[in-house]
Amino acid sequence: MKIVNNIKELKGYLAQERQKNRKIGLVPTMGALHNGHISLVKRCGKDNDVCVVSVFVNPTQFNNKTDLVTYPRTLDKDCALLESAGCNYVFAPSEQEMYPEPDVRKFDFGTVSSVMEGAYRPGHFNGVAQVVSKLFYIVEPDNAYFGEKDFQQVAVIRAMVKQLNIPVLINACPIIREADGLALSSRNVRLTPEQRQKAPLIARTLKESTNFVPEKSVQEVKEYVINTINADPVMRVEYYEIVDGNTMNAINSWSDTTYPVGCITVYCGDVRLIDNIKYNK
Ligand code: AMP
Repeated sequence: MKIVNNIKELKGYLAQERQKNRKIGLVPTMGALHNGHISLVKRCGKDNDVCVVSVFVNPTQFNNKTDLVTYPRTLDKDCALLESAGCNYVFAPSEQEMYPEPDVRKFDFGTVSSVMEGAYRPGHFNGVAQVVSKLFYIVEPDNAYFGEKDFQQVAVIRAMVKQLNIPVLINACPIIREADGLALSSRNVRLTPEQRQKAPLIARTLKESTNFVPEKSVQEVKEYVINTINADPVMRVEYYEIVDGNTMNAINSWSDTTYPVGCITVYCGDVRLIDNIKYNK
């Protein structure tokens, strides 16, 4: 496994790989890796001849300065995990390398990027599109892998490659959870022991709510989820929306879509956690 900080050097290696007709897969990450990330890396290794993992805490997608400053950074540990997961190239650029000049591009993907995370984290998806498009131009992967934990992000990336005509196949991978249901996240390490113990309430409530579909209305299911989680004094639901899983349009009735997905953001103390659930009608 090679650890590369420099774009030119990485492009050189990948040009050689491509000459040998090798299929290249990319897993973009911000590091502080856990088994959620590793599941993407393993899938990437299975589907491709060459697996590239980028580790870059992208400043342009943080709308909250404290979140950026406190974001965990564990590159040495990440590289050890990546090596045993079968990664071939770790791309860990500096901020200067990725942004030699400020990125002034402004993207607009319509509803997929303006609702939910787009509304509560202004500029977030623009920053995601900036960094991921740069990574796609640098690596030119055949396949790229994203986790469904960031459900809306996958839709934004799909819209981006369509809009920019980037020839890459976007692969969405299932959410990896702790035994108690909590979705793995790099931010989980910031939970206090008490918060960590309570955080599984989010996944548990989402799962329970699937039992009420389609007998209860969309509005009733939403209220159930929000009220059950907010009943715990440590938790505060920022939003819970049930949307069409392709367009991210909120639905009012189960008949509005064949693919209903509930997307939630909850503050557990001051740690912002996200999760989602697919409903079967
Ligand atoms: P991040 O480092 O948070 O930017 O995440 C990098 C990639 O890993 C994104 O595509 C995430 O959706 C994915 N990811 C993060 N947590 C999980 C998880 N628990 N299960 C599956 N994928 C995940």
